[in-house]
Amino acid sequence: DLQPVRRALLSVSDKTGLIELGQALAARGIELLSTGGSAKTLRDAGLDVRDVADLTGFPEMMDGRVKTLHPKVHGGLLALRDDGMHVASMAEHGIVPIDLLVVNLYPFEAALARGADYDEMIENIDIGGPAMIRAAAKNHAFVTTIVDVQDYDALLAELDANDGLTSIEFRKRQAQIAYARTGAYDAAVSTWMAAAIGETTPRRRVFAGTLAQPLRYGENPHQNAAFYTDGSERPGVATAEQLQGKELSYNNINDTDAAFELVSEFLPANGPACAIIKHANPCGVATGATIKEAYQKAFDCDRTSAFGGIVALNGALDGQTAEAIAEIFTEVVIAPAIHQDARDIFAKKKNLRLILAPGLANPAQAGVAWKQVSGGLLVQDRDNGARSLDDLKVVTKLAPTEAQMKDLLFAWKVAKHVKSNAIVYVRDGATVGVGAGQMSRVDSAMIAAKKAERMAEALGLSAPLTQGSAVASDAFFPFPDGLMEAAAAGATCVIQPGGSMRDDEVIAAADEAGLAMVFTGMRHFRH
Ligand code: 5GP
Repeated sequence: DLQPVRRALLSVSDKTGLIELGQALAARGIELLSTGGSAKTLRDAGLDVRDVADLTGFPEMMDGRVKTLHPKVHGGLLALRDDGMHVASMAEHGIVPIDLLVVNLYPFEAALARGADYDEMIENIDIGGPAMIRAAAKNHAFVTTIVDVQDYDALLAELDANDGLTSIEFRKRQAQIAYARTGAYDAAVSTWMAAAIGETTPRRRVFAGTLAQPLRYGENPHQNAAFYTDGSERPGVATAEQLQGKELSYNNINDTDAAFELVSEFLPANGPACAIIKHANPCGVATGATIKEAYQKAFDCDRTSAFGGIVALNGALDGQTAEAIAEIFTEVVIAPAIHQDARDIFAKKKNLRLILAPGLANPAQAGVAWKQVSGGLLVQDRDNGARSLDDLKVVTKLAPTEAQMKDLLFAWKVAKHVKSNAIVYVRDGATVGVGAGQMSRVDSAMIAAKKAERMAEALGLSAPLTQGSAVASDAFFPFPDGLMEAAAAGATCVIQPGGSMRDDEVIAAADEAGLAMVFTGMRHFRH
């Protein structure tokens, strides 16, 4: 199952490492074939290269659209070396075997990232490259296919380990990567095209990812798992840098993402903010005069749940805050900047995973979210909706004060990131009760209030902080009961989408209870 490599075809857009690879192959006595730009690079480095145009007897034409699309290339890649008829065909047509293909494709994804126009995008669709990759990978019984610069070293190591031959295991592994590459490439082309032609529900669509990290296991130890990135360069857990601590687990990545997306709702220009997450739900979110105060206030929302939580900050983590965080067991801390004194403090906490994000996420960023169900995928736009003061409609006799409005909008932002049914109580720029994931809105309101009572006891307060709070509901109150539960807990103002059949009843109940209520006209279900 070992196969010799006597002739290689190199055709790459990304010339990184090409000369070194060419030299290493030539040194092993391998004949080099190459296309225009690649051949020039190799030749300029003093290597002996044969042009594909010389092999085919056809010049490259039509701006490079046709370079390698020729039987002398594809026959050389596809011929079965142990099949008499194939060998006879090669002899008859003067086709020589090509044992190694090194191709990386026109930089379509890079053109997309820089916002190239339609015609430029079209020119960046590689045709001959994917055709060769698919041919060589199909014939992996004999041919080795390399599509990533990062695999050049592995190729040379493989040749050295086998006296200039490659093993079937290596060729199969590279063939699998090759098909994933051409698949991802066409996925990028079709996704771009859907956007370019304004098609929001294309009949066929593809998703592609690149392995970022194999994970020890999934949500539970009996589930295999891995983390794949989609190639977008957005700030987030996929693009962040881990500075210390154990490897991130599946649940860590999921929760860190939730924490970071939530804290990114709070612009640093409006002051420091902190979110603490457990099982993808916030157990405390707060703003403060300092990052430390924001953390402290978030922590005080639900100290019990914050144990083993994920902490996300919207500004630089300093030493003082690090000290406060280090007082309890914390799984992950993520921030867009981290001071050296904070790093020194955490260095003693070997297990704490410290993560530096390249800036904050953009909550308004458009994008696609998808979720697997049996037999398919559910696809939707990212929930990038937001409401500001001007969008709110006061529906009660009483209007919220300016301070109440601030807390209402704060509660609304948090509710967007809480699993439905979500009820969030806020006082003075900090959550004081979060009710998440209940099947009844009344229960969410009740649980959040209960937790606030428990915290009041722990903090030695005379009354729970829900007294005089603002409350947000991620979706409308279908009946007055949920609203009444919040009023009983001491909420004095309410933010909710409105739009229920019984809005009139709910508004009347609010008026009777002396509540000020605003409608957002936008819902934030999250499941
Ligand atoms: P070079 O810089 O060597 O001139 O071109 C290398 C690039 O051309 C590679 O990215 C390769 O995938 C691509 N390529 C090779 N053959 C063909 C072809 O026949 N048509 C097109 N459109 N691209 C090709």
